[in-house]
Amino acid sequence: MALVEARNLCKDYVAGEITVKAIRGVDFTIDTGSFVSFVGPSGSGKSTLLNMIGCLDPPSQGDLVVAGKDVTRLDSRHSAKFRGDHIGFIFQDFNLIPVLTVFENIEYPLQMVQNWPVEKRRKRVEELLGAVGMADQGKKYPNQISGGQKQRVAVARALVTNAKLVLADEPTANLDSRTANRIIGLMKKMRDEFGTTFIFSTHDTRVVESAEIIFTLEDGVLQTKNGNPGGQHA
Ligand code: ADP
Ligand code: ADP
Repeated sequence: MALVEARNLCKDYVAGEITVKAIRGVDFTIDTGSFVSFVGPSGSGKSTLLNMIGCLDPPSQGDLVVAGKDVTRLDSRHSAKFRGDHIGFIFQDFNLIPVLTVFENIEYPLQMVQNWPVEKRRKRVEELLGAVGMADQGKKYPNQISGGQKQRVAVARALVTNAKLVLADEPTANLDSRTANRIIGLMKKMRDEFGTTFIFSTHDTRVVESAEIIFTLEDGVLQTKNGNPGGQHA
């Protein structure tokens, strides 16, 4: 089943007399449970595309359906609600809250966005801590753990609300290559375990090989559709 469908998707950034055509009419379909990467050099449009899929920034043109909903023209209140219900985010600089423990960082979306009762939250956070290999690290603060461990916490936080879709913009950019491969491996394991669809962007040709579907972006245009050289189809 298609989870993300984009048709002739375009994004222009307009600043005064200057228009940057960041995404120039791309078409793609991503099925539920896929493990997908958008790869391309800096400035090719990866963040722009992920921000549209994540309903953080509306398209300038085209059609975009996510989880059965036409999100092309959602206003900001509805897009915030839609993100909270369906989408988890992972960032290159981890974005953990420094004054909260590892446990509290993972708990945060359940408390602030979804208002779960305390005992249900505790059980869910412990489940995720275990799933990402951080069961004994819950009381630590972000500055007491390594970069790889911070990203494990971010993976847990993205999954804690049962998001259907996790979007990760350059999740390995601040990690050494061994740790980067372990984080991509962890995301894939989470896809296998929870059935969550993962879409990550990268400019790193070493980590992209782990994706099952690779879309190559160049100057806002998609070079490869629904497949990859040497890879498998969804
Ligand atoms: P990537 O994530 O692949 O590095 P981006 O999506 O960040 O690429 O950028 C694609 C293009 O859009 C680049 O030319 C970039 O300079 C431009 N761009 C991105 N964000 C903005 C913005 N807010 N305003 C104007 N131009 C932007
Ligand atoms: P680091 O950046 O410190 O190298 P790692 O990602 O290698 O971080 O590992 C972080 C923690 O998670 C370590 O305690 C490690 O033992 C544990 N760990 C690593 N891989 C797995 C896995 N696949 N399943 C469970 N725990 C793991």
